Amino acid sequence: MRKTAKRPRHNRTITVDFHDEATYFQLLDDGKAFVELVLAFLLALGFQLRHKATCHGGGCLTRHSHYVRVRLGKVTIWRLQCTTCRAVFTILPHFVLRYRPMRPEVARDALLATHGGLSLELCAAIHHLSPMALYRLVCAFGRQSLVTVLTRCGLPLPVYFLADEKHTHCLTDRVYLPTIVRGRVLWHLGYTEDASAVAFTKSHQEFQRAALQQAPTYRVRGILTDGFDSTTKSLCTLFPGARLGNCLRHALTKLPKKLVAIASPVRQALRTQFHTLLHRARQRKGLRVFALGQRLRHFANDVARAAGKANGERVRRWFQDKKAGWYAVLEDPQMLVTSTLLDQAHNAIKRKLFAMKGFHHPGGSQQAFLTGLAHLYNLVPYQRRAKHAGQCGAEVEGGKVPTQDWFLNLQILTSGGFR
Ligand SMILES: [Zn+2]
Repeated sequence: MRKTAKRPRHNRTITVDFHDEATYFQLLDDGKAFVELVLAFLLALGFQLRHKATCHGGGCLTRHSHYVRVRLGKVTIWRLQCTTCRAVFTILPHFVLRYRPMRPEVARDALLATHGGLSLELCAAIHHLSPMALYRLVCAFGRQSLVTVLTRCGLPLPVYFLADEKHTHCLTDRVYLPTIVRGRVLWHLGYTEDASAVAFTKSHQEFQRAALQQAPTYRVRGILTDGFDSTTKSLCTLFPGARLGNCLRHALTKLPKKLVAIASPVRQALRTQFHTLLHRARQRKGLRVFALGQRLRHFANDVARAAGKANGERVRRWFQDKKAGWYAVLEDPQMLVTSTLLDQAHNAIKRKLFAMKGFHHPGGSQQAFLTGLAHLYNLVPYQRRAKHAGQCGAEVEGGKVPTQDWFLNLQILTSGGFR
């Protein structure tokens, strides 16, 4: 019996842009030029290859690297080896997908169609693919973490972010997608079958672990939530120093539900008054927190006068519960104020989950699938009539992508061969 456990093999595949297929086939006969092109490509990206832990020599492949040719379908693939640590890197040309016979043009179109909301079945029908092949493709990209891909685009780890959870279904089970968003990019899209704080902590921990791996000194300063108990608790546990705020827009939509058995115009008038109150509190700079406490008390009295004692008392208790979260938003000018962008992200993902029935597949890898969808959300450029036409979410947030082709970017950025 084998005594030593088999060590897991690292995926050291990298996708390299050779611009066109002819160049690639020409270079196959010229080892020196081939290695030089690969090195130039890596230099332009600024990524470091993932050598073995013990290797400090050179940090890069030299022309003395060994190379082996293997065949993938009808294409010859090169493997380059570091002469110091013997780590082997598989160099995939841009027109080949790892382990897949599918052509990148087909994959690109099919993923774009799914991203746009076309169902798995229809995408498969127009591209002569099986729906399952498309599902597996999304999962394959989803093996690489969002944090890794976004930091490869040069985005700083989010010091202030939005956190929320989407409630959805997998077959008949209720499931939850704990999510972290900053601006137009998703930093975390988790999957839990349980709404408990423990389950949410486990999910958010994946994000924290990946972030600390990138920057051991990473600290979160402020988080905005909609106030769901498990989300708040899990974030408190993981980021004890962070300020936890409650979404102000959410407060506004919640108020009418606190006012029961009154005429609609009265409810509407109180909502407008509350809107003005929050709006003014935000505009006051130095004194705004003090002003908020006083104004909330006055407002609760107004509610009691206009809508009866019971409603006034209910609103007062609600304020007691929530006001710490509102103070947190108002105290720090860098705190995010509303979770609108997060709701947009959730709605986009929800449409995709609905369109891709493959999600409802108990034997599937839900986490990898969701992460794959999140990569698409971050890297597919907005359509030409959109506000940020031609740019993807990662670029809108100030990141840089390796090439003009979003699908090639997805291939390069999710490569396993980089540190
Ligand atoms: Zn090495």
